[in-house]
Amino acid sequence: MLFGALEAGGTKMVLAVGNENGEILEQVSIPTETPAITIPNIIAYFKDKNIEALGIGSFGPIDLDRNSSTYGYITSTPKLAWANFDLVGAIKKELQIPIGFDTDVNASALGEATWGSTKGLKSCIYITIGTGVGVGVYQNGQLLHGMLHPEAGHILLSKHPEDSFTGSCPYHQNCFEGLAAGPAIEKRWSKKAIELKDEQKVWELEAYYIAQALANYILTLSPHRIVLGGGVMHQEQLFPMIRTKVKEFLNGYVCTEQMNHLEHYIVPAALHDDQGIMGCIQLAKLELQLSK
Ligand code: ADP
Ligand code: ZN
Repeated sequence: MLFGALEAGGTKMVLAVGNENGEILEQVSIPTETPAITIPNIIAYFKDKNIEALGIGSFGPIDLDRNSSTYGYITSTPKLAWANFDLVGAIKKELQIPIGFDTDVNASALGEATWGSTKGLKSCIYITIGTGVGVGVYQNGQLLHGMLHPEAGHILLSKHPEDSFTGSCPYHQNCFEGLAAGPAIEKRWSKKAIELKDEQKVWELEAYYIAQALANYILTLSPHRIVLGGGVMHQEQLFPMIRTKVKEFLNGYVCTEQMNHLEHYIVPAALHDDQGIMGCIQLAKLELQLSK
């Protein structure tokens, strides 16, 4: 059985066809222009692919409330051409198949929970640290939605006493994304993150912020495992530094078996940057089941 997958990002759209085992059979990437240009390209790609359902993991914020009149819309995004745009509706009108819809990071959380490093666990979170910071939350076998959906990349953190950088988020001076996403690193140190590989101080500070956020997620969401992905996490030296700091911040307060083995608790994504698109395949599968 074939499923369509669409990872809708602010700069590019990844389109793929996969099967029920999460195997990606073909994949292309097109730039995100205006809906008037990009939507017909998406339709043209999927039209003759014989897919039973489509799964979309989208940049946001998006409306995930099935009872809302704007369900399936991208809502208040600063990417103005896409603000208040009925993404699901525009595609459904042409393809006439079930369409699963969630945030891009929730899709990645689902991909990892279905086929990756959190397979079989009751709960997990997936954090991407790249151009922005996003958090997908999987709880009791379901992706977490709430009033909106988690926007946990913008939680407020305590500044490191030696960090004079004011943060790169236009909304908050000291949120996780503004202090620790790729653009924040590059602005603070005036160099590409990848070129800072050997600068110990850079990654100590980065681990300090990531670990602080993780400690907060552990205390509030109590996930069974935490997966870290996104471009910045290609700096693998961060993992042991983050685990050490998490232990320090929690200071023995959370006493579970997992806390004694943080190397199995705070882990990299296992699906080699395909977690998002594979999660979209699973979103499509779930929506097909729901529609029957
Ligand atoms: P996006 O978040 O747009 O989906 P990525 O997850 O690839 O894309 O994140 C891009 C960001 O990650 C950029 O800000 C870049 O500086 C940073 N980045 C990409 N690769 C690396 C790397 N190997 N080491 C450190 N930072 C990286
Ligand atoms: Zn912010």
